[in-house]
Amino acid sequence: MMSLRLPSIDGVLRHPACGPLLERHGRESLLTGLRQLLDELRPGVLNGQLSAVEISPEVLAGRVSERLAQQQRSHVRRVFNLTGTVLHTNLGRALLPEEAIEAVQMAARYPLNLEFDLASGKRGDRDDLIEGLIRELTGAEAVTVVNNNAAAVLLTLNSLGARKEGIISRGELIEIGGAFRIPDIMARAGVRLHEVGTTNRTHARDYEAAISPRSGLIMRVHASNYSIEGFTARVPTAELAELAHRHGLPLLEDLGSGSLLDLTRWGLPAEPTVRQALLDGADIVTFSGDKLLGGPQAGLIVGRKELIAKIKKNPLKRALRVDKLTLAALEAVLGLYRDPDRLAERLPSLRLLTRPQADIFAQALRLQPLMADLLGERWQVSAVEALGMIGSGSQPVARLPSAALCMRPQVSKRLRGRCLLNLEAALRALPIPVLGRIDDDALWLDLRQLDDEPAWLGQLPRLQVDP
Ligand SMILES: *Cc1c(COP(=O)(O)O)cnc(C)c1O
Repeated sequence: MMSLRLPSIDGVLRHPACGPLLERHGRESLLTGLRQLLDELRPGVLNGQLSAVEISPEVLAGRVSERLAQQQRSHVRRVFNLTGTVLHTNLGRALLPEEAIEAVQMAARYPLNLEFDLASGKRGDRDDLIEGLIRELTGAEAVTVVNNNAAAVLLTLNSLGARKEGIISRGELIEIGGAFRIPDIMARAGVRLHEVGTTNRTHARDYEAAISPRSGLIMRVHASNYSIEGFTARVPTAELAELAHRHGLPLLEDLGSGSLLDLTRWGLPAEPTVRQALLDGADIVTFSGDKLLGGPQAGLIVGRKELIAKIKKNPLKRALRVDKLTLAALEAVLGLYRDPDRLAERLPSLRLLTRPQADIFAQALRLQPLMADLLGERWQVSAVEALGMIGSGSQPVARLPSAALCMRPQVSKRLRGRCLLNLEAALRALPIPVLGRIDDDALWLDLRQLDDEPAWLGQLPRLQVDP
């Protein structure tokens, strides 16, 4: 038997298919790719497992082309979020409106007055760029912005309560997304946790009894991702603020999502507004930029002027500050709030959250036959009503009436799980991965967020489901 020999790197490079590859990827990447490929194939050639065709320059050029294309594909990829959770933390939360995208482009492309006061020609403060708008929209005296709400809470606690006690109800010692736990953040901020009351009931007298010369602040945290129901008691913010002020303590309220407007005007579940928390007497309110606000990732700290000044002086502020792209996007998003009547058209997250169920259901009915055709008789595909959620800790128990394509494998119970995982994997393997959810022995694609139907349809013929 004649032994095969791998072609040399030059031998492959001379093949005409390599011309375009050289052009596209550059000499260095092409050589590295080829070298890796040949190294991997060498053992197979030595022990006779590969045929002459498999190591022909043409085939090798094809394989290196695939490899380079794979490496070049970006890791940050667009997906279709059909999970039913609108503000999905793992999928990037809020989508920015066009106005914000334009502002980000401008800020990315050109120098800008990030910390420069154009009127006086003197050095400026980046918070000044959005302070006026936020004051107008929330009624706050002053504002500062950091990287996210976790940073906002950390910075505020550290600035106002370090080496003192932070008094908080046992019902509000929450954990969010695994890594953000109020007791841990307090400890890291240098604030000693003084928990009061019980999980389900905390009274004004519980707070009152905890106050001592060691006290630094009273904190209130929005429960966000769970709800306590039944025999419960919670001190209203106004009463807690009055109590705190009577003892000379600031009241800090972490609203989490924190809406700027009353969402019930769009038929959504009520969520506390930032303005109301301030009106009720909270001295500092913190909230996220990319939850219900519908903007970029950011943490907004608003409230009393002298407290904000103290927070801004903390050296940690420098470590947690926002970048120019975020500020540009945030200003554009906040600008839309000045015209609430058109907000639901212009702000993508609000537009998606308020999409009528009938509309989504009509879309499901329209897409059902296409999906049924594609999947064949092993699957029962139906257009059904479904319940989604807002996500990101807003109204954890509230459900958004929606509609979905529901796909049930018509196989024995034993095979069902595997079948569902295969379909889920196939949807994820599409050029724009499609993410749904498995529940009740079916795969659900909640269509609330399917607004780019052409792109979705265009790639469906490439769906390859293992039988
Ligand atoms: C979401 C949330 C946070 C964390 O906000 P990020 O912007 O994700 O850092 C903190 N507190 C509460 C109450 C929240 O709901």
